[in-house]
Amino acid sequence: MDISQQKKQLHQMMEQYVLTCRKAGLKVTHQRTEIYRNLLMLPDHPTAENLHKRLLSDLPSISLDTVYRTLATFEQCGLVTRIQTTESQARFEAVYAPHHHLICSRCKKVMDFKWPDIDTYQVPDEVKKWGRINTITVVIYGICNNCESLEPLIN
Ligand SMILES: [Zn+2]
Ligand SMILES: [Zn+2]
Repeated sequence: MDISQQKKQLHQMMEQYVLTCRKAGLKVTHQRTEIYRNLLMLPDHPTAENLHKRLLSDLPSISLDTVYRTLATFEQCGLVTRIQTTESQARFEAVYAPHHHLICSRCKKVMDFKWPDIDTYQVPDEVKKWGRINTITVVIYGICNNCESLEPLIN
């Protein structure tokens, strides 16, 4: 994707964000907008703490608690996804096209991947009976090639 396409996509997502906030009865405040924009611009699945640190340069008075609460609110309106990891801290990202995650248990990097087969897969009957499905997301845990190559050889 070239820069102009990226800009266009970012612009569209910011417009969508404003619409979603209005629909949910949320005020589009400067703080909220900056939190969302930061999450969009930095698609590396930050923790709330990491996001807070990045926001401090533009919003020096923003508290970690505000970041947490805003992320929870965004999650409820479907703007943000929370990715549960084996660490105690959840990671966050702005919702865009459906995708799944690879999590390295050593460097803790979270990578996106596409799995169209899963996206169109029929869920088992017991799941259909259980209720309404909003999203299906797969998380694969393992050790990435980069970390694997750093591992000292045994023997
Ligand atoms: Zn790794
Ligand atoms: Zn992702």
